[in-house]
Amino acid sequence: MPKHIVVIGAGVIGLSSALLLLQSEESANYTVTLLARDFPAPFETIDPLAHINYTSPWGGAHNRWVPPTASGEGTREHAFALATFARMRALADEAPGAAAGITFMKGVEYLENPGAEYAALEAEGGEYARWALGMEGFRILGREEFPDERVKWGCEYDTWCVNPMVYCAFLLRRFVLLGGRVVRGEVRGAVEAFSFPFKDGIGEKVDAVVNATGVGFGDDENVFITRGQTCLVAEPCDATVTRQNADGSWTFSVPRGFDGGTVIGGTKEPDNWDARPSAEVREQLLERFVATYPKILEGTGREKLTVVRDIVGRRPTRKGGLRLEGEVLPGGRFVMHAYGLGGRGFELSWGVAEGVVEGVRKYFAGEEVKV
Ligand SMILES: Cc1cc2nc3c(=O)[nH]c(=O)nc-3n(C[C@H](O)[C@H](O)[C@H](O)COP(=O)(O)OP(=O)(O)OC[C@H]3O[C@@H](n4cnc5c(N)ncnc54)[C@H](O)[C@@H]3O)c2cc1C
Repeated sequence: MPKHIVVIGAGVIGLSSALLLLQSEESANYTVTLLARDFPAPFETIDPLAHINYTSPWGGAHNRWVPPTASGEGTREHAFALATFARMRALADEAPGAAAGITFMKGVEYLENPGAEYAALEAEGGEYARWALGMEGFRILGREEFPDERVKWGCEYDTWCVNPMVYCAFLLRRFVLLGGRVVRGEVRGAVEAFSFPFKDGIGEKVDAVVNATGVGFGDDENVFITRGQTCLVAEPCDATVTRQNADGSWTFSVPRGFDGGTVIGGTKEPDNWDARPSAEVREQLLERFVATYPKILEGTGREKLTVVRDIVGRRPTRKGGLRLEGEVLPGGRFVMHAYGLGGRGFELSWGVAEGVVEGVRKYFAGEEVKV
């Protein structure tokens, strides 16, 4: 009998994990059911208030390399980002690359207050050891390339952006084509998924559950949300640009490609539950971005960006970082947790999915689950 795995959550983490389970070496022994309250839908039709707790539609979403610190903090995440980069490259290179909503382009960074890990990159000369290792197209910018004197450090590299709902819908389609089953529903805890009343021939017996619910089930005291307000504008942009301002705020662009416009952002507000956008914040975000990267308006004949819509989302953040861990609940029920991705769910997604697949494989093989 194949093992029945239920993945709870159809955000980028649940979708990548569910798909990879069906693409793994053990897939012939698995049936996989995706159980979720929210599923990908065209961005234009998603209700911003009804689906505020479904974060994936509201992400940018780009890959921004984050260097591990000298003490090694962020090393695991960097490895996940590299794994994701490789899979994004492979997906974009395939024939249906455009259908996946992935675009490769330059990433440009301007930092006003760079941490020691950035200075270390220069000290290490042309090698750009550690985090730069494995990155393509990496170059430290000269001062003459900075937009103004407040910027103290800058770099560029090759990276990718996705149009989130085009990409997530693509993952869902692939999952279904490989025989994955999809059920809309809500559970109050991972344990409920083991007794979920599945219909349409989906077996009642569940052998393992993946918890990809974004924030978990409210029983993890380390979880909190980080509000993000951004704005979708109609203009395309030739790079994904990130500026770290000295006051701790951020200015960035994430081109969505495929006639999806560009996301201009954005705020990072821990524990702010306000679901409505602020017009004042929007104006500030747009002004700051144009000042940093005037090129976005070049040749348009316009002085201001064309607002399509405001975006507010809740990043599923976790003190101590994401939870990627197996747990055996009373009664021998195995749950693989994969949540708390904060502002990096897309850029770490394939690394996390590989961890989920490995955790599930080890559990069924009777090995200790450590990923
Ligand atoms: C403004 C903004 C900009 C961002 N930019 C980027 C970026 O540029 N790059 C990047 O990598 N990340 C970015 N992020 C972060 C990224 O969007 C998130 O990390 C990612 O979407 C989290 O995905 P997830 O699958 O963990 O959670 P979600 O997308 O929230 O999905 C959770 C899933 O679980 C389901 N679910 C939850 N509870 C239950 C339940 N009880 N029963 C059944 N189903 C349930 C939901 O219905 C949903 O299907 C950004 C976020 C915001 C808000």
